[in-house]
Amino acid sequence: MEPMDHKNISPSLGKGIKNYLIDIDGTITEDIPNEEPERMVTCQPFPDALETINKWYDEGHQICFFTSRTEDLKEITAEWLNRHGFKYHSILCGKPRGGNYHWVDNHIVRATRYEGKFTDFVEKEVTVQVFKD
Ligand SMILES: [Mg+2]
Repeated sequence: MEPMDHKNISPSLGKGIKNYLIDIDGTITEDIPNEEPERMVTCQPFPDALETINKWYDEGHQICFFTSRTEDLKEITAEWLNRHGFKYHSILCGKPRGGNYHWVDNHIVRATRYEGKFTDFVEKEVTVQVFKD
């Protein structure tokens, strides 16, 4: 990496390293609303999600669970992740609820919708929305 002037630019990850932001409810376990926190203790992880995420962690990627769970549910969430053996760096609570996310950022952003199988990524051509030239 090039040396950075930390006063003027935000830091970048090493080459090929990703900042994974991974949803919890409905993505690595069953879809549990904040109104039913007791289920957050007893639910089971999706095995393919656990295996894939831990592989990404072992490859050196950053793993952040980005969830609509509220801050008061962070501790039981961390306990659940730890108990089931998830390797991760951070948990960010308070993601807006309701879905239909569209992220705008000056950094590279990729998004993958979870549709029931957690695997390594494959290349596929799709149409995306971008700003006008
Ligand atoms: Mg979800």
